[in-house]
Amino acid sequence: MQQRTLGKSISVTGVGLHSGERVRLTLHPAEANSGIAFRRTDLAGEMGDIIRLHPNLINDTRLSSTVVTENGVRVGTIEHIMSAFAAYGVDNVLVELNAPEIPIMDGSSLPFLYLLQDAGIVDQDAPKQFLRIKKTVEVVEPDKWVRFEPYEGFRVTLTIDFNHPLFNRSNQTFAIDFAGQSYVDEIARARTFGFMQEVELMRSHNLGLGGNLNNAVVIDDQDVLNPEGLRYPDEFVRHKILDAIGDLYIAGHPIIGAFSGYKSGHAVNNALLRKILSDSDNYEWVSFKDQDRLPAAFHDLPLAG
Ligand SMILES: [Zn+2]
Repeated sequence: MQQRTLGKSISVTGVGLHSGERVRLTLHPAEANSGIAFRRTDLAGEMGDIIRLHPNLINDTRLSSTVVTENGVRVGTIEHIMSAFAAYGVDNVLVELNAPEIPIMDGSSLPFLYLLQDAGIVDQDAPKQFLRIKKTVEVVEPDKWVRFEPYEGFRVTLTIDFNHPLFNRSNQTFAIDFAGQSYVDEIARARTFGFMQEVELMRSHNLGLGGNLNNAVVIDDQDVLNPEGLRYPDEFVRHKILDAIGDLYIAGHPIIGAFSGYKSGHAVNNALLRKILSDSDNYEWVSFKDQDRLPAAFHDLPLAG
């Protein structure tokens, strides 16, 4: 299997969920082995240099996964667009933006999938590198945990645990063994969600300033405030899976393994990636000349365009 980039450059405008700032985002094709990179076009001099994404650059995980470089350059809320890149197996892309935060769009990754479909996805003349988990690695905190185990595919199992009338046993766990279109069908439409009572607290920390019922599911003491309701009965846990897939793709490569978590979030997802990469006994780099040996999860990655 070969590396992938975009067929052409493509732009979109939107608003940052946390900053509330309007932002123009442009995705450009990029050379093989150049990886996923960001550039702030609104910043001058070396602040405007290309930033090659690496898990060690995720230095703010309050409510989103945000790049903060040594120079203090921020690229906020990257997890949903990263999730879309993972879905289409995009290895190399330059993401330019003229504000500190990726636009939230409708709160899901679907608008980014449409954007990638418009740009088209093309194969490149270099083998795609996969990160294969060789040993179980986990991050355990008092009230949450995440784990990656060896598995010849890509499986995600997550559990959330909210004590609220909307949540029950049947809508707080979701497991998916990825193959073909399953991300597009089962995960991509799940939106960001938040509790009304958290909104004031977030805003006092200058977070959530761009949030509204068009880009987030908002929950009060009893129910969903959005008039259109939910897109899936268990949209919340599916969105957590969308987030986790984006957070894990910050490795820059698809991961062959089984990921599971309980009350996971951006901070522990990133801690897990750093822990995996900190010891070369945990993983190996593999590529597949022979398509038959490729795990089924990656056989029919949608080829957009
Ligand atoms: Zn999210």
